[in-house]
Amino acid sequence: MVDPESRVGKRAAVYPGSFDPPTYGHLDLIERATRIFDHLIVAVATNTAKVTTFPVEERIEMLTEVTAKFANVEITTFTGLTAEYARSRGVQALVRGLRAISDFEFELSMAITNQKLNPDIDTVCLMPSEHYLFLSSNVVREVARFGGDLSPFVPPSVEARLRKKFQNS
Ligand code: ADP
Repeated sequence: MVDPESRVGKRAAVYPGSFDPPTYGHLDLIERATRIFDHLIVAVATNTAKVTTFPVEERIEMLTEVTAKFANVEITTFTGLTAEYARSRGVQALVRGLRAISDFEFELSMAITNQKLNPDIDTVCLMPSEHYLFLSSNVVREVARFGGDLSPFVPPSVEARLRKKFQNS
């Protein structure tokens, strides 16, 4: 009989990002994070100064479609500081991705800033499968703009939306 006192509590994380649009790189990270955490909150950040290709509602729709097979994933959006949002949701960790060395400096400075803003939360950086090491939403948007094959980079439902978005440009 297992001592009830030894029960391990629920572990949850917020995976914040722009997801403009979601790619197989994001999905790879989501799948890895769902194996580590009991509950994963994929949160579309709406406070960035970035001009986005897809409105937040459509990014949420795309993420909801492509993560339907994961029972422990929640898709949502937030404004303001990630550290504050994480505090309000009571999670222990933020999930971020590391591709090449170029990501490292940015992710490190964000992680340290978030640590200062909320010492109770740690950033867990995950590495994608090597297939997605050079994949970014930016690359995907460029390929879509010039009508290239998107199938190696994004799920079919995202590809369809990209085609529609760029068909007249
Ligand atoms: P942000 O604008 O916050 O960088 P992104 O949607 O571009 O939002 O990325 C969110 C997170 O996902 C970042 O930590 C980024 O490094 C990570 N990420 C994006 N694409 C990949 C990929 N192909 N492999 C690993 N991590 C990735």
